Amino acid sequence: AEPLLDIRGLKTHFATDDGMVQSVDGVDIRINKGETVCVVGESGCGKTVTAMSVLKLIAMPPGKIVDGQILWQGRDLVPLSAKEMNKIRSKEIAIVFQEPMTSLNPVYTVGDQIGEVLQLHEGLNKREALERTIEMLRLVHIPNPERRVHDYPHQFSGGMRQRVMIAMALSCSPKLLIADEPTTALDVTIQAQILELLQEMKDKFGMSIMLITHAMGVVAETAQRVVVMYAGKVVEEAGVEQLFGNPRHPYTQGLIRSIPRLDLAATHHTRLETIAGSVPRLLNPPPGCRFAARCAHAMDICRQSQPPLREIEPGHKVACVL
Ligand code: SF4
Repeated sequence: AEPLLDIRGLKTHFATDDGMVQSVDGVDIRINKGETVCVVGESGCGKTVTAMSVLKLIAMPPGKIVDGQILWQGRDLVPLSAKEMNKIRSKEIAIVFQEPMTSLNPVYTVGDQIGEVLQLHEGLNKREALERTIEMLRLVHIPNPERRVHDYPHQFSGGMRQRVMIAMALSCSPKLLIADEPTTALDVTIQAQILELLQEMKDKFGMSIMLITHAMGVVAETAQRVVVMYAGKVVEEAGVEQLFGNPRHPYTQGLIRSIPRLDLAATHHTRLETIAGSVPRLLNPPPGCRFAARCAHAMDICRQSQPPLREIEPGHKVACVL
């Protein structure tokens, strides 16, 4: 079957005073209908820039999609005009961000904000939009939606605000929801509830989810397929069981070791294992594997040329010489 979203060879670069930064450098990601794909990596690995590129929300300049295709149901989004893209955003592809306060307007009630989206994209009148908004708030389990629809964003707790954002994102029944660190700003119990809500909404609407996260724990709970990014490239891709059962890239192995073990931490005060070093700046990156400076297995050959992403078993690809 044709994938819903098929990102091919995407390169998004940013002009800086020091030169071009290759934030996303030849990335391929496919998302099928009804699938949850997690894109995981540390901050600065290019995952958010990839998502922003799909929605064409990269500020140009300084950013620019310099190469590749973003096929949405077979149609390339890269050459589309701002006006054509506006139609696809919200209605077909929607996004929720980490901190809903920055994407909700503080001077309008949540009813006005969701209502505006519905009037604009679904052609509803004011009363119909209000009714649908109440329905959406009920769907995401906000208590007393008839009353709360008239509240302002600051009157909601962080978790409830994220529910409002999800209601807004889903109000036009998109086929794909991009969730960029949707739970990172929330405390642990609320995080779990939001992930559960996303799963519930996915089942209800039959949509696909591209979930961007730095947390392997979130990946384990939500993903069907996982794409691991490092320094602007995909280094491993696999089904969730394959990835946790048989992680092959040293970077993936490091990410899995860094998952907090609550049971151990509580009793033994064990320190979290972290991956030493940091993501290299993507300004004139060195040839060869970009993880080499942090990899315990690095050999001379790793520094000579970039290892290609190779399929090692069905559905499992890895970019490493080992
Ligand atoms: Fe490590 Fe070499 Fe594999 Fe890169 S290619 S991850 S440096 S072993």
